Amino acid sequence: MFTLKIPSMLALDSYRSSTIHAKIMSSLFGIQKMPSDTSMREILDEVDPDELRVGYKDVFHELQRGKTLEQCTFRDRRYLLALDGTEYFSSPKVHCPSCMEKKQKDGTVSYYHQMVAGVLIHPDVKSVIPLCPEPIIKQDGESKNDCERNASARILKKIKEDHPRLKLIITEDGLSSNAPHIRDLKSQGMSFILGAKPGDHKFLFEEFSLAGSRTNEVVIRDEKSVQYLRFVNGLQLNESLRVPQNRKRHVPQGFEIINLCPPGKGMAENIF
Ligand SMILES: [Zn+2]
Repeated sequence: MFTLKIPSMLALDSYRSSTIHAKIMSSLFGIQKMPSDTSMREILDEVDPDELRVGYKDVFHELQRGKTLEQCTFRDRRYLLALDGTEYFSSPKVHCPSCMEKKQKDGTVSYYHQMVAGVLIHPDVKSVIPLCPEPIIKQDGESKNDCERNASARILKKIKEDHPRLKLIITEDGLSSNAPHIRDLKSQGMSFILGAKPGDHKFLFEEFSLAGSRTNEVVIRDEKSVQYLRFVNGLQLNESLRVPQNRKRHVPQGFEIINLCPPGKGMAENIF
């Protein structure tokens, strides 16, 4: 499916019934009879996702040996890894024992599968390099947030196991900027850039607005845009993490970055 860029399992079904395509499958891959999407799902359902790790690692090592990976070096010989949750299956009827469940307003239940996926990215490189994703699986008594957080902790641990010497800066959206997840990132020795939204981090944003003379301002100009950056170091993420002034401890950094684009191109504000 990936080699031939078949967009869906439904499209695969019409592909397999075409004589020309059957010939291509036979000559290219030696496949005499293509399985139906149901058969493929039944076979793949039995595969432990962890078994895919070795495949991802093999491809990654080829990119490392071929010096392709070097092009993605972001800063201080570190690579930028974008991590986020994504949904890849949802149905009001079809489900399996590992399905997550969502209760709708009308009382019906829908079933879905999500995963945490991580890809190495670089602002100047068009391609991304995916690492092995981690399924978000519901355990007994867990809330949805627990499931996502536990899956994030598992993927970080596995990335460290699979690539122990790879220096990473993890970048994630506002849902990730919470103390347990930051502890997980630090325990794996990873640097990070996490989004933060005013609605989720009232304490942090109040501290930021009260920082006064501790606020630093930088302006970066190029042909396309003017970027105004305001940042404060040493802010607390939330009140419960406040530490006494006399105790030395590493504390999060607060940044505000405002990008101003040329007229007509819109304006974006990003806060980290
Ligand atoms: Zn399922």
